[in-house]
Amino acid sequence: METIKEGDYVLIRFRDKRYLKRVEVDKNFSYKGGVLQFRDIVGKPYGITVGELQIFKPTLEEIILYGIRRETQIIYPKDTFYIAKKLDLSEGKKLLEFGTGSGAATMVFSSSVGREGRVYTFEREERIFKTAKRNLERFGFTQNVVMFNKPFDPSEVGGIVFDAAFVDVREPYPYVEAVHGVLKPSAPVGFLLPTANQVEELLKHLKPHFGDIEVMEILVRYYKPNPERFRPEDTMVAHTAYLLFAKKLSI
Ligand code: SAM
Repeated sequence: METIKEGDYVLIRFRDKRYLKRVEVDKNFSYKGGVLQFRDIVGKPYGITVGELQIFKPTLEEIILYGIRRETQIIYPKDTFYIAKKLDLSEGKKLLEFGTGSGAATMVFSSSVGREGRVYTFEREERIFKTAKRNLERFGFTQNVVMFNKPFDPSEVGGIVFDAAFVDVREPYPYVEAVHGVLKPSAPVGFLLPTANQVEELLKHLKPHFGDIEVMEILVRYYKPNPERFRPEDTMVAHTAYLLFAKKLSI
């Protein structure tokens, strides 16, 4: 059975709050109800209750939501988990991504393409690039990720034919042809765009390079897990971004 070790990250649940913390034996976690000494949970299995706290092994979603340093707006797991499957990512695939931002989406893509796959990701801002690199290193996502601190430039990945591409930059329009040029025939591409006018502008640029275009957004509604008073949460995130997917046409 896997037990909690020094240096592990744990997900601590206290009432309706979640905290992602690194276990260091000489440190503790203070919360409204008391103090948890990390040395008291080392060697114990995950999924234990300590007083009012529940201690779990964090999932990828929790690492992204509670663990990474945010230098930019990140893409939330509700979107990236869907994007990864829509791009048909699986073991061994090669994905082109820009911009890396804080690396939240990169983590999901890295976990989707496995050991034999590769994510080639470009971030033009040095400060943001360094944060993404630290985030990926801290949670062990560097093995299959190749990072470039520069604007996307197809000559940097010359010779690689990609299985899919994902673009999350404010101005994707000038890159449509270059992305088309590095993809396999029929390969999927995804774009994330926060505003409707960006979607309209991108649609004008996609033809004749890409077909089978779909635009969507993902709304997630959480419910209060109370059997006596089961009902939706009072508030929800109404809009994160539009997702646009298309496939390469051979022209
Ligand atoms: N998807 C990221 C995540 O989940 O953490 C967030 C990406 S953030 C919204 C957009 C990033 O794209 C910014 O960090 C910006 O510096 C970068 N960027 C903008 N244009 C770029 C380009 N042409 N090449 C590479 N990066 C670019």
